[in-house]
Amino acid sequence: MASPPHGRPRRAAPAPDSPAQDSPAQDSPELDSPELDSPGPDGWTLDSWSRHLGRRADPAALAARLTAGSLPEAVSAAAAAAPRRLALRIDDEDVTHGELDDAAGRGAAWLHGQGVRPGHRVLLAGAGSADFVRAYLAALRAGATVVPASPMLTAAELAALCEQAQVTMAFADHSSAGLLAGAASGLPVTRIGPHPGGGTGRPCGPALREVLSGQDPVPAGPADPDAPAILAYTSGTTGLPKGVPLTHANLLSSIRAAMLAWRWNGSDVLVHALPLTHQHGLGGVHATLLAGSRAVLCSRFEPARLARLAGQARATILFAVPAMYQRLTGLPRAGLAPLRGLRLAVSGSAPLDPALARRAGAALGQLPLERYGTTESGLGVSALYDGPRVAGSVGRPLPGVRLRIADPDGRPLPPGEPGEILLAGPQVFGGYLGPAGQAGQAFHPGGWFRTGDLGRIEPASGGVEITGRIKELIISGGFNVTPREVELVLEQHPAVSEAAVAGLPSARWGEEVAAWVVPVPGAAADPAGLIAHARARLAVYKCPKQVFLVDSLPRNSLGKVLRRTLRPPPVPG
Ligand code: AMP
Repeated sequence: MASPPHGRPRRAAPAPDSPAQDSPAQDSPELDSPELDSPGPDGWTLDSWSRHLGRRADPAALAARLTAGSLPEAVSAAAAAAPRRLALRIDDEDVTHGELDDAAGRGAAWLHGQGVRPGHRVLLAGAGSADFVRAYLAALRAGATVVPASPMLTAAELAALCEQAQVTMAFADHSSAGLLAGAASGLPVTRIGPHPGGGTGRPCGPALREVLSGQDPVPAGPADPDAPAILAYTSGTTGLPKGVPLTHANLLSSIRAAMLAWRWNGSDVLVHALPLTHQHGLGGVHATLLAGSRAVLCSRFEPARLARLAGQARATILFAVPAMYQRLTGLPRAGLAPLRGLRLAVSGSAPLDPALARRAGAALGQLPLERYGTTESGLGVSALYDGPRVAGSVGRPLPGVRLRIADPDGRPLPPGEPGEILLAGPQVFGGYLGPAGQAGQAFHPGGWFRTGDLGRIEPASGGVEITGRIKELIISGGFNVTPREVELVLEQHPAVSEAAVAGLPSARWGEEVAAWVVPVPGAAADPAGLIAHARARLAVYKCPKQVFLVDSLPRNSLGKVLRRTLRPPPVPG
């Protein structure tokens, strides 16, 4: 595994999760100093953390504070401070911080008894549930590395994941446990979550609650911050999934930076319906457990239910992906009312179309705050909590993160110029698991992670704009075309609900631009009219040569459009 020089200081720092330590105004209030946004000795970086914090921060002290301790220690310390406070309501089950801490200790004792040792890999497969979080915390406290697996994986994908990650045992919900048993891998499986049918069906190992009883809880001892806590697999919108080891320090610094920026505190109530097997949803659980706050989570996304639950719980923060905002904005005004009480609505994991941002802003009473991140580099960039929200901008690097826009050789580019987004800092992983070739391509010298995303720094505001993904770039007649730019123009057309753009092989141009368009129900969208609309607004080489009208776009479980799977519809007859 490549290990880029992050320069993360190793000295101990005070526990950073107490809100008392997060007083913003302790240092110089001098926030507009140009040196914060100017090229440093190693090129253009955007070290503008002070804008998030509301004060100047010493980078070394900040990094030490962000990475201090390990997840089990930090979560257990927060639980000790508020053991009786409700931590999670997931679907209909409530669990307090103290109960989760107790389950983590008992589960770790049981795992040790099963021979699980630090560094062993434990699969955690299934939909979000209180048991999912119990099993997660137990595995971490036992020193194991958790391998999250989406409940949407097929039996073959699960089997391949177990093989690739070399897991030694599994926690799995009813449906994933059935798939694992069917694969006859011999992997010991412990069941988590509800068991539909009152316990009948194929026996797939003991239930978590059975194994926890009769154990003496193990306390959360000191753990190596640089040990892998999670082995995540990228969602694979391009190519095959890759193993991403994330250390305690990576995960803690990622979420703590966002908590500081978003002023997260013990009285916050988060609401979301994101999968816990992905960093976006799991990050919300981390924040809740570290702050001793509360979260109301749904294992399935139903817009009306989510809004109702948010109202009942007096939710203060919403996490959602753009596809969820799209559906939330379709609710009647009365159904949306509970969401108007939020202090923060966060959007991430996929581009938020500016028109949708404005619709969501009107529906919720605030523009969603955009954040940008990747599995490999954690939560990297966020709009300013106190600053103006600009549709189309994901904001500035979060505390501890350094960002650079670079040319293909990794050379920094000035503001305004488009290039690849590179990230460095304690949030960034050390390299992919697997063949050295993969790891080598992931970084430029100096520990700069190549996100594969294209973007630019908007010169006037200093905010980062994401323009597309390198692998999705269309090269037509030698010209570069970013699919997103064309999609945004098509989505301005009143008859277009949403659009996706990709390149098709072309004898003449190498690739030619094609668009897949979902029309607004009842609207008269015609391909020739849409091409004319694009021609009036875009350089000719960017305009679609073909437009296909479709009922829906292919998306993954987080709502990201899978452009690489777009194919022309079969010709009838
Ligand atoms: P994942 O590793 O599944 O979290 O996917 C990370 C990818 O999602 C990034 O490389 C981006 O392409 C995309 N992404 C995440 N957040 C945003 C955002 N706010 N705007 C646009 N794209 C995003």
